[in-house]
Amino acid sequence: MSQSALPKLERLPHPSPVADDVRAGLIADPGFGRVFTDHMVTIKYSEGQGWHSATLGPRGPLTLDPATAVLHYAQEIFEGLKAYRLADGSMALFRPDANARRFNQSARRLAMPELPESLFIDSIKALIEADKGWFPPVEGGSIYIRPFMIASEVFLGVKPSSEYLFMIICSAAGNYFKSGAPAIKIWISESYTRAAPGGTGAAKCGGNYAASLIAQQEATANGCDQVVFLDAAEHRWVEELGGMNMFFVFDDGSIITPPTGGTILEGITRASLIELAREEGLTVREENYAIDQWRADAESGKLVESFACGTAAVVTPVGSVHGVQGSFTIGSGGPGQLTQKLRAKLVDIQRGTAPDPHGWVDRIN
Ligand SMILES: *Cc1c(COP(=O)(O)O)cnc(C)c1O
Repeated sequence: MSQSALPKLERLPHPSPVADDVRAGLIADPGFGRVFTDHMVTIKYSEGQGWHSATLGPRGPLTLDPATAVLHYAQEIFEGLKAYRLADGSMALFRPDANARRFNQSARRLAMPELPESLFIDSIKALIEADKGWFPPVEGGSIYIRPFMIASEVFLGVKPSSEYLFMIICSAAGNYFKSGAPAIKIWISESYTRAAPGGTGAAKCGGNYAASLIAQQEATANGCDQVVFLDAAEHRWVEELGGMNMFFVFDDGSIITPPTGGTILEGITRASLIELAREEGLTVREENYAIDQWRADAESGKLVESFACGTAAVVTPVGSVHGVQGSFTIGSGGPGQLTQKLRAKLVDIQRGTAPDPHGWVDRIN
């Protein structure tokens, strides 16, 4: 096969999908990331051959040689997006082209092969079509989609792998759209950083998460829900949470979000909210914001709201910030008005109850 030809997705029969009544029980209250669907997509890459052996088949365990490269050197990237059931009953993805592009940016940073965007998107759509029985029957229920790629060469030498495995799995996700998402407490990590200039902060790779877990553990030990990371060079500038981008709202209605200069993950939720806020006539500045300034502005009342955002929880209000230098509360400590308004605007587009002038909603069927 030539390097440029796209492999065709071969459909393998499923001998024993989960029985209807069992599935109904599982998706009644699935939570997040624990209830998996019947199928998965697998596509292989070999140096010299390109992408091949694309299948959509029964979900099941992998058999890996203990010397498989990813197990030793963490050459791995992933994506996260959701399929929604729209008000009219059809199914849709939200900006999957942006996920496909970002997946390839991550691939380049991790010295991995790029996957054609159409193969990424079409495979996701085929998988959702096969697993459409797994949408939770609750309002706002969705299917969370996890595409990922691992270095699959069996070799202990340190070099980019010559073989890769791309996969997509899905899990049923409960209702994150309930109004009044509770405000979270966040912990300022003074001892650990997530990303440094020249590092992998802008890539969605498992290694970033592995390195952030100890800080998350510290946050939990201090009674907080999430950790917020500062920049690695000065320990001064607010970057992001372990898996969510940050926004700050001021009393004049203006908004600041930290710029994506290589150490911050370029969230698709972040980019969408910037556009929506600007369309509301609000000023959004992509600007560094210092932790001391955050504290001072929260205490003076100049800062009225803060929120975090990402695909999984959409928009999450930040109620208070804690650290070794004490704590401060944001606004009333609950969800702010603009936070809720922007969240509702985005969710309405995602769920097809508001017009979609940007063409962000990509229908599956
Ligand atoms: C995935 C991710 C986000 C959020 O990105 P979305 O595209 O909005 O889901 C933010 N920060 C990190 C570190 C992430 O991995």
